[in-house]
Amino acid sequence: MGTILVYSERDDLAYELISQARRFQAVRGRSVAAALLGDPGDRAADFFAYGADRVFAANHPTLTGLRPEPVSAALAQIADSANADTVLVDSTRRGKELAPRLAQKLGAGCVTDAVAVRWENEWRADRSALGGNTVATDRIVSPRAVIAVMPKVFERGAKEARSGEVAQAPVTADAPPVRVVETRPKGGAGTSLDDAEIVIGIGRGFAKQEDLALAQALAEALGGEVGCSRTLATDFHWLGEDRMIGLSGKRLKPRLYLAIGISGQIQHTVGITGAKLIAAINSDKEAPIFEMADYGIVGDLYQVVPALTAKVRK
Ligand SMILES: Cc1cc2nc3c(=O)[nH]c(=O)nc-3n(C[C@H](O)[C@H](O)[C@H](O)COP(=O)(O)OP(=O)(O)OC[C@H]3O[C@@H](n4cnc5c(N)ncnc54)[C@H](O)[C@@H]3O)c2cc1C
Repeated sequence: MGTILVYSERDDLAYELISQARRFQAVRGRSVAAALLGDPGDRAADFFAYGADRVFAANHPTLTGLRPEPVSAALAQIADSANADTVLVDSTRRGKELAPRLAQKLGAGCVTDAVAVRWENEWRADRSALGGNTVATDRIVSPRAVIAVMPKVFERGAKEARSGEVAQAPVTADAPPVRVVETRPKGGAGTSLDDAEIVIGIGRGFAKQEDLALAQALAEALGGEVGCSRTLATDFHWLGEDRMIGLSGKRLKPRLYLAIGISGQIQHTVGITGAKLIAAINSDKEAPIFEMADYGIVGDLYQVVPALTAKVRK
């Protein structure tokens, strides 16, 4: 065994994982391999540039889309071909479906939702526990490990002038037990929150769904995206779950995070600790969000937000 294998169905996340695998190379002495499933196009060039020593490609119709079974089977075969003792995948919803299936096939220990990973004569991974109130460190004591890492935990490294040969992985794909009948784009507008430089986070301080237009107007004026607390996504269903920030949602690293009508419970704020600047608008001056905000306005959002939007538009 001597390889760290990386896989993500999203290339941007694969670059983060490859960059980190390369850093682990120094302490763990393993080569870095990346799995490229589906249409390879010219994607392998970037995998090499971010640090992969080898790229294993497998292109089969069953290996794309919502199919964790064939994807985990293919990755297990690639892990064996690559002589991998460690597999890093992303801890998105898909990644979390994939990781335990892959670990079972490899007889590996598995951790998902990792927010930090280190090698200390064994893999150790930190993850939030007890509803986000503490951080638990999981140890993987088995010879093989599958670790699903939250997006943005690892910094994407700089590209280097490296290249390599793509190996065609000898993957045998069985017919998947689940047949995808139809796929449809998710409803709801807006681009992804993940890369937004400015994020307006909105919470229960908004009394009615129609009032979210106030936040949308401010986001448009600032060139930002709207995200929300769990209350608005899963309790009220005013925004999709892809907009939810926090322990059960996204972890973001925007330049500016503006929390409006959000109390700042730990389960929410774990999603914004990477923000460069945090500002908050809340009518309660004791709201916990002010403890971590760089700037705060104590006031009624129904007065502050339209005034702020008008000011930005000027
Ligand atoms: C296991 C677990 C996982 C969780 N995961 C997440 C997660 O990923 N993300 C998440 O967000 N939450 C999560 N939660 C829920 C979390 O604990 C909080 O309940 C939630 O974040 C609160 O949402 P909120 O701030 O919108 O609402 P509240 O806590 O109700 O806060 C509303 C705020 O709005 C202010 N306000 C009210 N009216 C106005 C006004 N007119 N103008 C200005 N301010 C006003 C109030 O002062 C208050 O501070 C999780 C909880 C658990 C147990």
